[in-house]
Amino acid sequence: MKILLKDAAILYWDVTLKVIQNGYVAIEDNLIKSVGSVSDLHLLEWQPDRVLSLPGRAIMPGLVNTHNHAAMSLLRGYSDDVPLQTWLERDIFPAEDCMTPEDVYWGSLAAILEMQKSGTTTFADMYFYMDKTAEAVLESGMRASLAKGMIGLGPNTQEYLLGSREFFDTYHLAGHGRIQVMLGPHALYTCPPDFLNEVIDLASELGTGIHIHVSETLKEVEDSYRQFNKSPVKVLEELGLFEHQVLAAHTVHVDDSDQKILVEKQVGIAHNPVSNLKLASGVAPIASLLAQGGLVSLGTDGAASTNTLDLFAEMKLAAWLQKNYTGDASAINSEQILRMATIDGAKVLGFDRVGNIAAGFKADLIVIDLNQAHLTPHHNLASLLAYSVQGKDVETVIIDGNIVVENGKSTRIDEKRVVAEMLERGLRIKRDATEGMTEQRKQL
Ligand SMILES: [Zn+2]
Repeated sequence: MKILLKDAAILYWDVTLKVIQNGYVAIEDNLIKSVGSVSDLHLLEWQPDRVLSLPGRAIMPGLVNTHNHAAMSLLRGYSDDVPLQTWLERDIFPAEDCMTPEDVYWGSLAAILEMQKSGTTTFADMYFYMDKTAEAVLESGMRASLAKGMIGLGPNTQEYLLGSREFFDTYHLAGHGRIQVMLGPHALYTCPPDFLNEVIDLASELGTGIHIHVSETLKEVEDSYRQFNKSPVKVLEELGLFEHQVLAAHTVHVDDSDQKILVEKQVGIAHNPVSNLKLASGVAPIASLLAQGGLVSLGTDGAASTNTLDLFAEMKLAAWLQKNYTGDASAINSEQILRMATIDGAKVLGFDRVGNIAAGFKADLIVIDLNQAHLTPHHNLASLLAYSVQGKDVETVIIDGNIVVENGKSTRIDEKRVVAEMLERGLRIKRDATEGMTEQRKQL
């Protein structure tokens, strides 16, 4: 399939952010063939199968959400306004105990639909029944970095390692390379050092990366000092984890020496500002990490803790938060935010040639309708995209050269069916979890 998009403003990355005001993008199969000004279009001797004329639109690289638990969309609004431990132990864990593989499939598909319609073309996930999430990814045309969640406590640790190995063998590079598989040890507090050493060995053997929660809460860091007399970042560094490609979710409570390690080792950070605020976890020092040369990307976390998977909402909040956290309105700018949400997100996940609109890159891009009152005038395109656009402004989405959303409608997913399944499954999970709730859990 050859698709030509033209007459739009095109935002892409050179060394810095660049804009072609009246530009075109030529897509052939799954790759971007050429990008340029419409005035040079006659030089491109090439016959497209489809032409989309897009005046008044912006085309930008598809967004990359680097931390999610997609199937948690089934638990959206299930528990709010309670402390993290209550949220997790009283509400979320019992509900997850009631989830079936089919629930994870539908929850993942609903999350993918929400992400695609709001401009996300790649996401990273860690959860259980991950083969069902992989199925949803393959069917929906999405790009994803998937990790089977692993717990290194209890009697089943070897099964977790074996499960991850099998998942890697089955799904790594599936869907013409749209899926990449990472290993997903949940966190240091659920995966002791001996287990993490086995994870590191497996990562070396498979040549893949590691997705792990790091220093999300103060309690986690205090427990680490109590147990190891050092921070989680320091423990992980000494284990040699950071010699591998690592995706570290949250890094909220990282002191100066932790930050130095994260920057030196170029650990990929997934910053999840909405989730961190909702659960009162704190504010990650992202501006400081960026100023030191750290590799930072943006994630939503699961819908149970973030309530919406619109990455545009995360972008704006991430910026506002750093400005207030540092007391400096210039601490972070729209270009840095857009970089985190696109090309640096792809880099963090280890996707090659993803996250930019340039010849030879994978054709993952989104079209945004700027012909709307809340998106005018067009003083500064980067500012509009980082701070004013909402997910619902995304009109068309292309992933790996395929149009997956056109004029706001999915071309791959039956939205009515998804809604019906989510309503029914959500009710059932709530009923089962509530009836099964033990007295001890109610006390939490
Ligand atoms: Zn998480």
